[in-house]
Parts: sequence; structure tokens; C-alpha cells
Amino acid sequence: MREARWNPPAGAGRPVHIQIFHHPGHAWNPDRMVRGVRASLDYFTNELGPHPHGQMRLIEYPGTGVSLHGAPVNIWYKEEFSLFRPDEDPRRIDFPFAVTAHEVAHQWWGNQLEPASVEGGPLLTESLSWYSAFGVVEKTYGPEHLRRLLGMMREMYLSPRARAGVPLLRATDTFLAYRKGPFAMHALREYVGEARVNAALRSLLRKHSATTPPLPTSLDLYRELRAVTPDSLHYLLADLFEANTYWELATKRATAEPTASGTWRVTLDVHARKVVVDTAGTETEVPMNDLVQIGVFAPARDGAPGAPLYLRMHRIRPGPQRITVAVPRQPALAGIDPRHLLIDVTPDDNVGQVKRAVPGPGS
Ligand SMILES: [Zn+2]
Repeated sequence: MREARWNPPAGAGRPVHIQIFHHPGHAWNPDRMVRGVRASLDYFTNELGPHPHGQMRLIEYPGTGVSLHGAPVNIWYKEEFSLFRPDEDPRRIDFPFAVTAHEVAHQWWGNQLEPASVEGGPLLTESLSWYSAFGVVEKTYGPEHLRRLLGMMREMYLSPRARAGVPLLRATDTFLAYRKGPFAMHALREYVGEARVNAALRSLLRKHSATTPPLPTSLDLYRELRAVTPDSLHYLLADLFEANTYWELATKRATAEPTASGTWRVTLDVHARKVVVDTAGTETEVPMNDLVQIGVFAPARDGAPGAPLYLRMHRIRPGPQRITVAVPRQPALAGIDPRHLLIDVTPDDNVGQVKRAVPGPGS
């Protein structure tokens, strides 16, 4: 057993006695789990509210599988979860740390707030636990580590699947609960800001943390998110949660040329389309006048992706369109929605290599 203690900041609840019960041979992650519990308690007590108990235990149990379960105080994990070796992961992702944060988040999402057992319920438990864990990962390891974690989680989108489906507000299956839901919350955070989204979550907890009926549903979450989202972005909220929306975004061509003033002019030819898919798989193209990020990036360095030279929202309409921006240095990559905030089943064509523009005749 590994033991540690977490002390809350003044006025933020009680100290927590942390215990990790593990197989003696599975000794390489318990310290990492302790770090995950501590970082999670720091972040969640600050962002969501106090942790109600004086103990938190992670308990390994035998059997094949990597599943975990976050009951109040006791978090159970199957022994295969112990086999993750982040130090040997070429993707450089501390997955056990992130999963620990997800399980600690269930102390709020699922334990303090228990949803009604109806469609959309998993949005309030699994999706919010992942969304909250993203904040712990980013705060502890930085935005680049979070980007790698999101990239790994996005792989599930790329396995072939029908686009038919219910809107997130009616989510019941694991794909919506563990992937599409957290990504929708993350996208909203990038559009309206972490402070606003987390204020909405605190408000939800304040109103619904008693486990007496009426228990909250995804509509209660939606009401809180709408209250913190500017009117100008209500369309996005509806696309993310009320409909089964897909964006089809692609960069067909990206060129750059130096200007007389020493900057570089980047010209992007992009293509956009937005469709809503119903449960039978019928696709309906819908009007689009959406804010979508346009990004231009410096060359990669030391294995890390290049720094953004330009990253701003642009109004994007359906069909082909040309976008021209100025950047201070020669760029390497450019494209539309480079951080994959919007749900696009072919994310690889969002960003392309920037080619040096061929001077036209007379120039
Ligand atoms: Zn979970």
C-alpha cells in the first residue's frame, strides 16, 4: 500500500488520506496515481467545489481487463491497468495519470451529482469526468500533453463507423459518452473559455448534487451551458449537443510568399460543408456561417509541432473559399480547424504543407 495525504487550501473542505492498494509486483505506477489524485483534488476543489470525504483509495483487483470504477471513496481498477508503462510510451502520454484524474472526477460527476437513468445520463458522468480530467492534464503537463492525449482519444473516430446517430443530449453508448461528449465540451471550452464552462458546471453541481429526485438530466447541463454561452455561439451549442452534426473541412492548397515588408502572405484554398445525420443515416446539408479556426504554423522542432504563427476564428461558409493571412515568418503548415475542435471524420486533410508560391508572370 502506498499512502499520502492531500491538504486542501484554506476553506476548501477537509484533508484527504490517499491509499493505493496494489499487487506487490505492479509497483511502477502507484506514485504516479498519488500524483494524479493530488493534482485532481487541487484542480477539482478549485473548479468544482469541495471533496466531501476524508479518504480516497485506488484498489487493484485481479482479472483481465483495464476497466476502473469510481465509487465514492473507493476506486477499483483491474490489474491490466497496471501494465501501462508511460515512460516507455513513444506517444509520450501519461495515460494512467489521466485515467486517475477521470476516476477522481467521478467523485463529483456520478457520486456528488447522480443523473436520472434516462437518455443523456452518461453525458453527466463519463463525458464530464473526461472533460474535467483534461483540465488536470493540461494544468499539470501543459497544453501540448493535452493535445497528444486528445489525439490518441480521437483515434476512435477514425475506425469505420456509421455517421447515423442520436444527438449528444440523448447519448447512451460508450462512443458518445467517452469520446464525442468530452470533445464537444472541450470544443465549447475553446470557443467560450474555461472559466465560463466551469462556472456552468459549478452551477449544475450546486443545484443538483442532492441525490433526491428530481435527478438531473442532460437538459439541465444544457441549460447551464447555454446560460454561459454568448448568443452569437448558440448555433455551435446546438450543433454540438442538439443535433448529430458533422463538419467536413479540408485544405486543398496552401501557398506562401514573402512580402516587401518582410512578412509572409499565406493563401489558403479551403472547402467546407456541414451536415446533420439522423438515426437512419439520412444526411442533410445545413446552412453554414460558422466561426472556424484558421491556423498557420512554423516548422516542427525537436519532434514538437511548430508554434502557431497565426490562429484565429474566421467566418466560414459552405463550398470552396480563399483565405489570405499575414504571418511574421516562413510557415510550414496551414489549414482549417487545425486543433480539430469540430467533429470531422477525416481530420487528416484539415492541415497541409505550405508550398512556396510560384511568382506569376510580370512579378
Ligand atoms: Zn468513468
